[in-house]
Amino acid sequence: MAEIIPFDQRQGQLWFNGRMIDWTDAKIHVLNHGLHYASCVFEGERMYNGRIYKLEEHTARLFTSAQIMGMTIPYTEAEISAACIQACEVHGFKDAYIRPVAWRGSEMMAVAAQQTKVHVAVAAWQWGSYFDPKEKMKGIRLDVSRWKRPAPDTAPTAAKASGLYMICTISKHEAESKGYADAMMFDYRGYVAEATGANIFFVHDGALHTPIADCFLNGITRKSVIELAKARQIPVHEKHIGRSELDGFTECFIVGSAAEVTPVSEIGPWRFRPGQITETLMTAYHDDVNRPVSQVKLAKAS
Ligand code: PMP
Repeated sequence: MAEIIPFDQRQGQLWFNGRMIDWTDAKIHVLNHGLHYASCVFEGERMYNGRIYKLEEHTARLFTSAQIMGMTIPYTEAEISAACIQACEVHGFKDAYIRPVAWRGSEMMAVAAQQTKVHVAVAAWQWGSYFDPKEKMKGIRLDVSRWKRPAPDTAPTAAKASGLYMICTISKHEAESKGYADAMMFDYRGYVAEATGANIFFVHDGALHTPIADCFLNGITRKSVIELAKARQIPVHEKHIGRSELDGFTECFIVGSAAEVTPVSEIGPWRFRPGQITETLMTAYHDDVNRPVSQVKLAKAS
């Protein structure tokens, strides 16, 4: 196995509270509100061919997530978007994964955090396929998590907030220990929700079916895939999906900025075969993220 360089020991620079600093100097104190009380929000986005896909949407979501948590980011959205680009450019990256993160600092160390400062950092690194590329084309295997996505009045489910990932990491570890690539989670009502870091789609009779994002992240990739499908006359049904419906679906795939469009062959007892619609949308997404900058500008203007 290739040696993994820990993330705090890598070379280069990252954006930290308004300026570029050496990667290994990006330190915070152990008595930090974000660490102790999960007052932390973040983003995950990718640069393709020198352009960060849906950069403005990711930055806007970071600010919305912070607002939901009662945190005021002391920068403008334009400054954070520029920081994302700078974090790539400083390494000469044209293809990269970018991680903006905002957290409460160390001024107060109890549940109340009214006086804490909000800090922001943006780091970029090169990151290939989220799943093993060989396994990805066959379709990945998902475990069924024993954890449920919580109700929107139980946790701030619309925010991309660190605290919501506790159950994702536990689920993913349990899945991996059983030989699965990831886990699918049901929600608090027993409806299909999502994977641990990606939204989910199914195919039945030439149409897409995907859960309503009413208690989990309405992913930026999910919204792109819905648009790409509709543009190709593939009907899309956003609806609550019960356990019994899983028997009737033929194809399944998960989508996210990191996962992109990844076919699924198995979820616990349910079987799927990556087919034509999955392939069409994998290609459509690949083409969309890699569109030349000039075409993106034209599309935005129209
Ligand atoms: N759900 C969860 C739990 C996630 O972590 C992600 C990845 N951010 C998604 C869905 C997909 O979101 P997006 O397409 O915006 O990356």
